[in-house]
Amino acid sequence: MTDFNLEKRRYVLGGVAIAIITVYIIRLFTLQLMSDDYKKNADSNAFLKKVEFPSRGAIYDRNGRLMVYNQPAYDIMVVMNEAKGRIDTTEFCQALGITKEFFIKRMNDIKDYSKNPGYSRFTQQMFMSQLSNEDFSIFQEKMFRFPGFYVQHRSIRQYQTGVAAHVLGDVAEVSPSDIEDDDYYKPGDYIGKLGVEKSYEKELRGEKGVQILLRDARGRIQGNYMNGKYDRKPVAGRDLTLGIDEKLQALGERLMEGKIGSIVALDPQTGEVLAMVSSPSYDPRIMVGRSRSKNHRLLSRDAWKPLLNRSIMGMYPPGSTFKTSQALTYMTEGIITPSTAFPCSHGFYCRGLHVGCHSHASPIALVDAISTSCNAYFCWGLYYMMGNRTKYKNPYEAMNVWRDYMVSMGFGYRLGIDLPGEKRGMIPNADYYDRNYRGSWNGLTIISISIGQGEVTLTPLQIANLGATIANRGYYYVPHVVRKVEGLPLDTLYRHRHYTKASRRSYD
Ligand SMILES: [Zn+2]
Repeated sequence: MTDFNLEKRRYVLGGVAIAIITVYIIRLFTLQLMSDDYKKNADSNAFLKKVEFPSRGAIYDRNGRLMVYNQPAYDIMVVMNEAKGRIDTTEFCQALGITKEFFIKRMNDIKDYSKNPGYSRFTQQMFMSQLSNEDFSIFQEKMFRFPGFYVQHRSIRQYQTGVAAHVLGDVAEVSPSDIEDDDYYKPGDYIGKLGVEKSYEKELRGEKGVQILLRDARGRIQGNYMNGKYDRKPVAGRDLTLGIDEKLQALGERLMEGKIGSIVALDPQTGEVLAMVSSPSYDPRIMVGRSRSKNHRLLSRDAWKPLLNRSIMGMYPPGSTFKTSQALTYMTEGIITPSTAFPCSHGFYCRGLHVGCHSHASPIALVDAISTSCNAYFCWGLYYMMGNRTKYKNPYEAMNVWRDYMVSMGFGYRLGIDLPGEKRGMIPNADYYDRNYRGSWNGLTIISISIGQGEVTLTPLQIANLGATIANRGYYYVPHVVRKVEGLPLDTLYRHRHYTKASRRSYD
């Protein structure tokens, strides 16, 4: 009985094993033959797909001064099937000025699917990118000795002057996630990484073209397949005109040399950014070509954070610059009138709380309070607003009314500038204080927000925009650095007036 069972089991196991082996053999066979066959027909030996890169759009300042343009560069491409065993490695490395170790590593990386998922030994693979004219000239003379290696004409960015690095941004090779996000990109392609190069990537990049070349049996190029019927010409990218005035920008950068901080200048009538300085900065010309990754690494490790665009990413207590927004709020809510005067004897004193001020006449009315930047005046304003029980049920309601005014002035949220990485800053609301003070807070607890301190933070861009709303007597356009994209109308987002909650009368 037991023997019989064992015997039976042996047959079953044997059968299963044979079945598995058979499946594997068939699978191996089909993979080997079928995929070779597929490649011959599709990518193929007989065809060579040659990508033609469009020229990237140029960038001008508001007065038509050229800021960013292209200069020729060269990528060295390799078709593994053709290069294999047919070149003198020593001579090749000399011509390119690279070491043998680099050569071996590159060739292995190209064949490594985890690093180069689109690998095929029949198609052009990127061997080295962004060679300059000088680097390329020696190689070019000897190129006929290196079968399987091809040149791809590219361009790299060139900057007319060293200003506006944060606004302009830069271009670099695509990362694996760029390729995953958008199938336009193939390994070795370039993409805008920062600034307008990133936010206007789609407009600047244009569209790649393609030539399908035919080879003969010995691999030599015979001409365009079907006389170029399936070829596609590249479409050039669109030029950008910035709102930035290059001379004003240069002046701002000179003024900020050796300092940490930001300057933002806006045209209130349009929302165009005239200058955007973030200091410390760097020369955009070091972020070009083959030295980009090294320089980018150095900058990103710098303790002074030169890569940070403080104008839109730095969040600071706005301090006294915030006081005009408070005056507008108190007036519109009827807490004060321009003739309302508050006392100040070296500051605000109330139920044991003291907020300091410098010495000036007392009491003073609104205009004097703004011109002397009196802390006490704006503390009293908030104190009376939070404590007003005829207008608001409780401090909770008063606080949220205050918050609504601030948000309407462009604080607490991103303004929506056309640059990557904008931060929203911080405008507290009633729930925030309920959480932090367990529901027990009043005007005095939060008094420092009235002078732009405490929990309040803004970006320099938001502070500049407050100035624009005052110049316009109550509205702003979303600030933007690009005033014109060649051949396209300005995004409606930048043509729409945003009105604040403060009354026209209070602005006047
Ligand atoms: Zn004062």
